[in-house]
Amino acid sequence: MVYLKTDDEIELLREANLLVGKTLAELAKNIKPGVTTRQLDVLAETFIRDHGAEPTFKGFPNPYGPEFPASICTSVNEVVIHGIPNDIPLKDGDIVSIDCGTKLNGFCGDSCYTFAVGEVSETVSNLLRVTKESLYKGIEQAVVGHRIGDISYAVQSHCENHGYGVVREFVGHGIGREMHEDPQVPNYGKRGNGMQLKDGLCIAIEPMITYGSKDIYLLPDKWGIVTRDKSISAHFEHTICVRKGKADILSSFDEIENLIQR
Ligand code: MG
Ligand code: MG
Repeated sequence: MVYLKTDDEIELLREANLLVGKTLAELAKNIKPGVTTRQLDVLAETFIRDHGAEPTFKGFPNPYGPEFPASICTSVNEVVIHGIPNDIPLKDGDIVSIDCGTKLNGFCGDSCYTFAVGEVSETVSNLLRVTKESLYKGIEQAVVGHRIGDISYAVQSHCENHGYGVVREFVGHGIGREMHEDPQVPNYGKRGNGMQLKDGLCIAIEPMITYGSKDIYLLPDKWGIVTRDKSISAHFEHTICVRKGKADILSSFDEIENLIQR
């Protein structure tokens, strides 16, 4: 069931998503060698609750194991998504994808940014750049009259043209009162395929891209998803609303990028 949102609902979604951007920016100030992802999780939960919202990820159900124990997913290097925060300090040259979800006034925010820790190699920064570019290429396709497959194709072709892998098992999604609504938004697909996009459709687009093979496996903690060949992986996500002419991006990287000057 796909729920198109009213303009009032879209503004509530925007508020929840802007809070995610602010939370990620707050974390960006603290991402440096020596910091643990558990410390970042504590900062995130405090920041979200101080702004009157709930961290949607905390206690998120898992059909295969325990609920998610933290307020953010922190996926370091070869971890693609759903990394559980831990006590291992981040090192110079690492990358960490921080996925964050909020619920504010009944609506959900969902956005992810992959950060470089200290100095990273050109190989690594290229993966981050191309993954983020693919997100915006997908967003360019998110206009009335296009189809889900147009978004999927734009993401996949950009990343594969650079020789990167596109994870198939996890996808973007509709978003609203629930964090995961219909439709699914895969990062691979064919132009002209899938559901036609209508004004007011709100979706999260979230390329999960690997430097090497696209093959993944599930960690014994039943959450973390890791590349099979241990190559690094990047993940960028925006929540957007489909509009005529140009998508409306409801989340924001502006505050993050003012801080990290990328
Ligand atoms: Mg997310
Ligand atoms: Mg998402």
